[in-house]
Amino acid sequence: VAKSKARGSYRLFHPDMQRADEAGRRLRAELSGALTRGEFALAFQPIVQLASQRIVGVEALLRWHHPERGLILPAEFIPVAEESGQIASLGAWVLGTACKAARHWPEDVKISVNVSPRQFELGDIRLVVGDALAAAGLPASRLKLEVTESVLLSQNASSIHVLQDLREQGVILVLDDFGTGYSSLSYLDTFKVDIVKVDKSFISRIRAPGDRQPIFEAIMGMTAALNLPVTAEGVETRVQLDYVTRLGCEWAQGYYFARPVSEYELRRRLQGFSRA
Ligand code: C2E
Ligand code: MG
Ligand code: MG
Ligand code: MG
Repeated sequence: VAKSKARGSYRLFHPDMQRADEAGRRLRAELSGALTRGEFALAFQPIVQLASQRIVGVEALLRWHHPERGLILPAEFIPVAEESGQIASLGAWVLGTACKAARHWPEDVKISVNVSPRQFELGDIRLVVGDALAAAGLPASRLKLEVTESVLLSQNASSIHVLQDLREQGVILVLDDFGTGYSSLSYLDTFKVDIVKVDKSFISRIRAPGDRQPIFEAIMGMTAALNLPVTAEGVETRVQLDYVTRLGCEWAQGYYFARPVSEYELRRRLQGFSRA
């Protein structure tokens, strides 16, 4: 790689970059094998339907319990796993584990799984999804796949085709982190998704009653025109809840309702909610 770089490019190489590179290499080495050592777990965060105030969905969020470093969050290791290709086996494990967990929940509670664009390049995700559903005995309609718009913009045009296939089989497609990328109206029209999830950065800026987020409000206008229901993520306060409710979001997710919790804790909460 170094040889292919332009002459003199080493001058741009700062010791900090070398340190970051070493840390990346170490993480990559530790990541391979972490799955078989059983160091990964899923955390589960409830998604609440605003009209009924009931938990109608749960998002699976990947956690790495490193033997020495403790808890490592996805922002740190997902990019590494994507680059090395390990995201393929990791992603398959997430799908399988999440679907198995959902078997124990009430039938109207859906499971959301995040899927990285790289998983479309590394294999046929239709087979991975099919296997996960079959092994858990779960109908496709219980599974939501969360993809970011980078999947739609990727070079690999077939990923759009693959997603539409999955949707035809009954899987629910969610466009995650909406508003942070191109957020183009035209592809929302051509690429069929079922739900738009507005990025938490918009919600976090709402602090006091009367605060407004024009871009968020524009997204709500655009999705309403397209008949697309919206989930608000990162709702932490009552003020934010009132705001997203008033704007017409159908569902919300965030620390105001619940943090991501263990499978055991989630089941306790699902029972508690249905009794309430
Ligand atoms: P995401 O899919 O947008 O997930 C939402 C993130 O917001 C999660 O962070 C969640 O813990 C956090 N969150 C939820 N409610 C609140 C809140 O009220 N306030 C704040 N400040 N944060 C909140 P997390 O678990 O660290 O995951 C980060 C990202 O990593 C996810 O963003 C997703 O893109 C990715 N990710 C997580 N699990 C997986 C996975 O299994 N596979 C893949 N490919 N990506 C994953
Ligand atoms: Mg997500
Ligand atoms: Mg998101
Ligand atoms: Mg995100």
